[in-house]
Amino acid sequence: MKLERSPFVVSIADLLRTPGHRRELELKGPIGELRSAGTVVDAAVEVDVRVGLEAISEGVVADGRISAAWRGECRRCLKTVGGDVDVEFRELFEREPKEGETYPLGHEEIDLEALIREALLLALPLAPLCEASCQGICPTCGADLNEGPCGCPPAGRDPRWAALDDLHLS
Ligand SMILES: [Zn+2]
Ligand SMILES: [Zn+2]
Repeated sequence: MKLERSPFVVSIADLLRTPGHRRELELKGPIGELRSAGTVVDAAVEVDVRVGLEAISEGVVADGRISAAWRGECRRCLKTVGGDVDVEFRELFEREPKEGETYPLGHEEIDLEALIREALLLALPLAPLCEASCQGICPTCGADLNEGPCGCPPAGRDPRWAALDDLHLS
């Protein structure tokens, strides 16, 4: 089995020789599964990355945009939902990276994978909805209320709310 080179490892030899020169790249490939609370980017999903690289005295600045398709469950009705996450970034790669702040600069290449994973994780929706007006499911019978009322009596309400009603707030 041949070891696949990550599409997100980029040679920067030319940049390091010409400080101030900027190079734009378009990269594409799978990045492995990413999971946040309510959503997932599947391992096979192709992630699109547009990145500009520029050598400065401290290292290499990478900025650009990442997009990937995600899927999840509507937090109210549990139907499968999906969308695209699209996130901008601007990060520094340096020889001696600061933990949690900058990324490691290799001898003649940089690996954008950690940056891409972190940026996507932060941008994924935590609790997606199928639509803003989703009615959810009936807590009593489990019917999908988007398809109409289920006929359960409104008495299924939490008694604590009924007590609040008795206060006759106006
Ligand atoms: Zn829903
Ligand atoms: Zn019901």
